[in-house]
Amino acid sequence: MGHVDHGKTTLLDKIRGTAIVSGEAGAITQHIGATEVPIDVIVDKLGDPRLRDRFMVPGLLFIDTPGHHAFTTLRSRGGALADLAIVVVDINEGFKPQTFESLQILKRFKTPFVVVANKIDRIGGWVPQKNMPFAATFKKQSGDVQARLETKLYEVVGELYNQGFAAERYDRVTNFQNTLGVVPVSAFTGEGVPDVLMVLLGLAQRFLEANLQYSATGPGVGTVLEVKEEKGLGPTLDIILYDGTLKKGDTVVIGSLGEPLQTKVRALLKPRELSEIRYESKFQQVNKITAAAGVKISAPGLEGALAGAPIRVATEETLEEIVAQVKSEIDEVRIDTDSVGILIKADTLGSLEALVHEFKKDEVPIRKAEVGDISHRDAVEASTVEDPLYSVLIGFNVKVHPDAREFLQESNVKLLTSDVIYRLVEDYQKYVKEQKE
Ligand code: GDP
Ligand code: MG
Repeated sequence: MGHVDHGKTTLLDKIRGTAIVSGEAGAITQHIGATEVPIDVIVDKLGDPRLRDRFMVPGLLFIDTPGHHAFTTLRSRGGALADLAIVVVDINEGFKPQTFESLQILKRFKTPFVVVANKIDRIGGWVPQKNMPFAATFKKQSGDVQARLETKLYEVVGELYNQGFAAERYDRVTNFQNTLGVVPVSAFTGEGVPDVLMVLLGLAQRFLEANLQYSATGPGVGTVLEVKEEKGLGPTLDIILYDGTLKKGDTVVIGSLGEPLQTKVRALLKPRELSEIRYESKFQQVNKITAAAGVKISAPGLEGALAGAPIRVATEETLEEIVAQVKSEIDEVRIDTDSVGILIKADTLGSLEALVHEFKKDEVPIRKAEVGDISHRDAVEASTVEDPLYSVLIGFNVKVHPDAREFLQESNVKLLTSDVIYRLVEDYQKYVKEQKE
């Protein structure tokens, strides 16, 4: 997670790349939207075979957040889909809106995470030492450069403190239960990358062992990451399967705005190996996948599937029950209760959930909260709320239809749109204050 351009994809590429260089290319599996790195590869990378027995995790599945909001879709039943997170911040730029937003989401989900202070190679005078652990490369830098790094690092630590997190350079942390580790890294040169893996494994061991139970044979359960149009395939779903098995031909139930979708999996697609790019399709078919994994699903009738929604495998016997379950998972997020209250529209289930949470925290009544663009109907509905404090339409990362915009111009409805969650909350608070004055 983190602000756009702060280096998330580069870091993941480097983790994958250095692992491949370490001679275990076959062991790294590229998934759709995710990369699986087995524990042996990581331990090998860390250079201490004794570590092998210390870690119970079979490996790590890294999910790259495709857009800068997509991490709000990394959800499962009101919780976080990810067990751990890496927050990437450019050490030279410091905190940005999406950095703050990442932290708020992690706080809400209580997800353990590590902060990566990236792009240390950009610090004036830095002499790169390819793929070296942080301590080793730090020692090789001049006193001036070291001081510059410390200054920038403590700005990051200060920002974290302002956000309510005790933090420290990770090698100075004595208790990871109450202090966040900050790892100085260059995703570009690989410096500090072994340290990130080490801290992640440490967190995995400390926080997750009890929760690492999952079933490999049960019916598949996953979360929709993205609904994506693919040439020749139509709409497809990129999903993360976090429990059980999913097979070609399986009946799946997927959350949508209305009744849950029911369809049969036509194809399960994984990225082709690099050596196979001569094939026309970017994808190769597989007959089944087992959690945890990322995969693309092709199936009829995927229009209307929601990013962030659950996807569950059903059988003839369980279908009714699974449909009800998926429906209730979606209804947990959508609310339609207070008759006087604001209207919220958001791009994904996850962002909607985050917004509802933030406004509820401030005890703001909500009349309607839905995924989708702002339509004429929404505008009309907001205008029926008489109290000006609540005759408000909130839009997160959505379009405003022209006829809605036209209607709003003539009405007293306050329209607030942004692509940063906490900005919407702040803008709303500001609006309320103005109204009260
Ligand atoms: P994302 O949007 O967070 O996924 O960011 P990217 O990984 O796409 O990186 C954005 C830009 O920053 C790219 O041009 C990268 O090459 C560059 N970049 C990423 N990490 C580093 C780093 O550690 N050092 C330097 N100098 N550039 C970096
Ligand atoms: Mg990226």
